[in-house]
Amino acid sequence: MATEPPAGDGGRSALFNGHLDVVSPAPEGLWQQDPFAPVIRDGWLHGRGAGDMKSGVAAMVYALHAVKKAGFGLKAPVTIAAVIEEECSGNGALACVVAGYDAEAVLIPEPFGPTILTHQLGVVWFKVTVKGVPSHVLAAPAGTNAIEKIYPLLAALHRLESTLNAADIPEAYTGIDHPINLNVGIIKGGDWPSTVPAEAEFHGRLSYFPGVGYSDICRQIEQTVAQAAKADPWLAENRPRIEFYGFRSDGHGLSNDLPALRTLNDSHRALTGQAAAEYIATCTTDLRAFVHFGRGQATCYGPVAENIHAANERVNLDSVVQVARTYALFLARWCGLAQ
Ligand SMILES: [Zn+2]
Repeated sequence: MATEPPAGDGGRSALFNGHLDVVSPAPEGLWQQDPFAPVIRDGWLHGRGAGDMKSGVAAMVYALHAVKKAGFGLKAPVTIAAVIEEECSGNGALACVVAGYDAEAVLIPEPFGPTILTHQLGVVWFKVTVKGVPSHVLAAPAGTNAIEKIYPLLAALHRLESTLNAADIPEAYTGIDHPINLNVGIIKGGDWPSTVPAEAEFHGRLSYFPGVGYSDICRQIEQTVAQAAKADPWLAENRPRIEFYGFRSDGHGLSNDLPALRTLNDSHRALTGQAAAEYIATCTTDLRAFVHFGRGQATCYGPVAENIHAANERVNLDSVVQVARTYALFLARWCGLAQ
């Protein structure tokens, strides 16, 4: 966290937020090179975190540096915040807001390309644990296989996903195919091929539309699991346990006519000759902390990356420079230049 003090007055403040944490590179066998030994090939930087989002952090830092190097000060403070935990809860950005780091415009260079993000979904993480009865496989029917008891719960949660995609879709999301996604990201259970497993668990991520609250979606997940459990004699007696952890992040929608978003788009247009497209995101970002708990004029605009959260992640280096240039022009126009 660092704040450049104003060199004059009468300007509007800005804050850049970027996250330093990355997701696991596993399975590393799919990578063309060591994910943590970055290489540049044909104008693209390859490596875990290259796009999501070290390059964005570089762009935002150099934007402020460029203004100073050109011999100007700014008429309002500019804060650079580099945070942790974007990938698992958003608590790093939230801690910044709680500590008072906020501004009249907040820009996050997530690698979604040079677009103006106006909408993002809510996201919840949860874990479901199912009990079974251990047994030697010679008498497998005497046991209850906890792993297999997970199947009907997964099917029911995918039906909930279909229901969420079928009704009450906010206007901004009507043009997007399958905006709500359930991901079962972790499954664990059992310890021996010849033993009926006594316990199994899975962890899921489900998104939800802006306007739906965190406790509403939690209740829907609980009801869905309870209904599916009722239909199975074993699960009806041995209820699955649900825990919510990590993300509890409501979605939001903003107008791209907000002054900060308009100034960013005007800066983009001045450098590229065309307006930036509006981006309706089907994920969450650290914007939530600033929109729900801060002053509210916040968006993402960032480099062009490929394979983020996958093998062979890479970022286009020209796009990183382009983001830095747009941000520098934004600072000049939003904060105001002081000689
Ligand atoms: Zn990211």
